[in-house]
Amino acid sequence: MKEINGYIDSVFYKKDDLLEEVLTSIKENGMRSISVSPSTGKLLTMLVSMTKAVTILEIGALGGYSGICLARGFGKDGRLTSLELEEKFAQLSKNNLTKAGFGNQVTYITGPALESLENLSKEGKRFDLFFIDADKENYENYLEYCIRLAEPGALIIADNALAGGSVAEPSARIRRYTDSMKAFNKKVANHPQLESMLLPIGDGLTVSRVKE
Ligand code: SAM
Repeated sequence: MKEINGYIDSVFYKKDDLLEEVLTSIKENGMRSISVSPSTGKLLTMLVSMTKAVTILEIGALGGYSGICLARGFGKDGRLTSLELEEKFAQLSKNNLTKAGFGNQVTYITGPALESLENLSKEGKRFDLFFIDADKENYENYLEYCIRLAEPGALIIADNALAGGSVAEPSARIRRYTDSMKAFNKKVANHPQLESMLLPIGDGLTVSRVKE
């Protein structure tokens, strides 16, 4: 997996000073380096622009790396709502999105994402595209909320579908969340309201389309 991803990044990803600065800011703030891979980020930008998504909901902001990638795919009307547990992380993300020129197009909601999703649902909010990248144990719950909040035809994207390869490779180290990801993958693959595929890029990305 590592070699394949290294190859993909080396061919398809071009050095990006702004994103490099985001990664540096994450390290400088003593946060874990668990942003999406460079190629995953590029794919997120492409998926937003290909679907012409305007309203985007992200679950798990960290330092704003994926947020910038998502925002780069939308135009001036685009709006990113990002759910993040930690106030400090949301603040850093906001700073980084502002540096990237998207400060006025992003809203951070802090606290446990399940509570924020319940509130968004009560408010009747709808989104064109979702990116799930927070606590893996809740992915199945997040999926149910995303379907509830989805515009017809919306995309639901989730990172870490391969859990470091452990969902499939007998030699890979089993993660705390390996079983959660296996259950999530099975769910998106068989959900009657979704058509889905898993792309083996980065740590694995599921892409699901909510049927109209
Ligand atoms: N999407 C980010 C990126 O690629 O730039 C990386 C997100 S990181 C893998 C996971 C994030 O989810 C962390 O910032 C963490 O604080 C947040 N998180 C974990 N549990 C959460 C919860 N219950 N509600 C909201 N956010 C949560």
